[in-house]
Amino acid sequence: MNEYVIEDVSHCEIMWEYQSYKEVMERMNYLRQLWWCWENICPCTSYATCSREYEIIKYAGGIQIDSVCAFEIGKTVDDWKLNNWKG
Ligand SMILES: [Zn+2]
Repeated sequence: MNEYVIEDVSHCEIMWEYQSYKEVMERMNYLRQLWWCWENICPCTSYATCSREYEIIKYAGGIQIDSVCAFEIGKTVDDWKLNNWKG
C-alpha cells in the first residue's frame, strides 16, 4: 500500500500523512487556497517574513520511492509544481 507524507522542508516538520493520492491533492489545493493563514502559518515568531516549502514524499511498503516539491508559500505563493506528478 502506498503512503504519502507531506513535509514542510523549511522547518523539517512532518505535517500530514495520507493513504491516497486523492487526499494528498485535496490537501495541497486547500493549503494553496488558504494563502498565508491557518495551517500554513509556521510557529516562528518571525512568521510574517517566513514561509513553508511543501514536499510530498511517497512510500511503498515503508520505503521512500518518490518525492516532489509542491509549492512554497509565505507572503507570496510560488508556482504549482504538481502538474506533471501522477502520484
Ligand atoms: Zn517559520
